[in-house]
Amino acid sequence: MVQDGRVPAGDVSRRVGVEVIEARGVDSKLLVEKLIDAAGAEFTTYYYYTILRMYLAGHEDYKEICEDARLEDRAHFELITPRIYELGGSLPFDIRTFADRAGCPDAYLPNTNNGKLTIKPGEAVEVKPAQILEVLLEAERCAIRTWSEICDLTFGKDPRTYDLAARILNEEVEHEAWFIELLSKERDGVVRPSGHFRRGEPGEAPYSKNRGFYNP
Ligand code: ZN
Ligand code: FE
Repeated sequence: MVQDGRVPAGDVSRRVGVEVIEARGVDSKLLVEKLIDAAGAEFTTYYYYTILRMYLAGHEDYKEICEDARLEDRAHFELITPRIYELGGSLPFDIRTFADRAGCPDAYLPNTNNGKLTIKPGEAVEVKPAQILEVLLEAERCAIRTWSEICDLTFGKDPRTYDLAARILNEEVEHEAWFIELLSKERDGVVRPSGHFRRGEPGEAPYSKNRGFYNP
């Protein structure tokens, strides 16, 4: 039974879960658009991090951190996607549309002419780890801005979206700190600790998968 009785019993064309957040001042259509952009950024970041990680060859420590960030961004895509549908939205049917509207810039491998470079098997791309770490860092910063905006739009009005966005934000803030630590030491020789503890397993996503935290 709906409190104000606006959605008639059995009516599946309307959603109480949407109307209650609208009543609290959320523009649910705008929110859906922003969630699709944000999901697109997570999905494309997962893709680009796959490549960036490959080109950190020889730096097993960097590869391991990149792997956690990569898998956690996939977890973020999966965490937020159901919310798009709950709000009545849908992912674009064409992945090209989805990638094009991603809310963050493409995290291209440096020295690839914005991804347009093609190489044949056996050819190499000349890229330094510091260049890759810079791309990773700026991608995390974009993610922090994105999820902070979603938190601001939903705080006190849409507790479910807020909770999901806040969980993701927790991990994005950690990711930024990790890459500041690595880039600062690699590029500048300066120690700026991130407070990083090793994930229990690769891409554990303690917040977005609701796993136990560092000390189980
Ligand atoms: Zn993410
Ligand atoms: Fe991230």
